[in-house]
Amino acid sequence: MHELSLSQSLIEIVADHARRYALERVTEVLVDVGALSCVSPHALSFCFDATARGTVAEGATLTISVVEVEAWCWTCGKSVTVTDRAGSCPGCGGYTVRATDHGDLKVREIVGKVRQDGAA
Ligand SMILES: [Zn+2]
Repeated sequence: MHELSLSQSLIEIVADHARRYALERVTEVLVDVGALSCVSPHALSFCFDATARGTVAEGATLTISVVEVEAWCWTCGKSVTVTDRAGSCPGCGGYTVRATDHGDLKVREIVGKVRQDGAA
């Protein structure tokens, strides 16, 4: 499952970040998903919860924002900005658009609680 491998790499990024900033607990993870990506936000949060179990991100809230992406429309023959999940061209309403930015998922912010005692 696509979302499962995505959430596994997401947890790795979060765990890395937690180590670097001495976070004892990650409470929220904010990610951006491109409008044309095939990532299902519902499946992703489900997989995230399962993958986070037993890690520093256990119980963290995953906030997924669908963001606009640059795409090429074959019908219009130009570059367009696609903002909706349906992935139709804002110019002609067609579906012959192809994302030029392939980033499926980007981590925007990781919110956590810093360890207070200073012990490593
Ligand atoms: Zn078009």
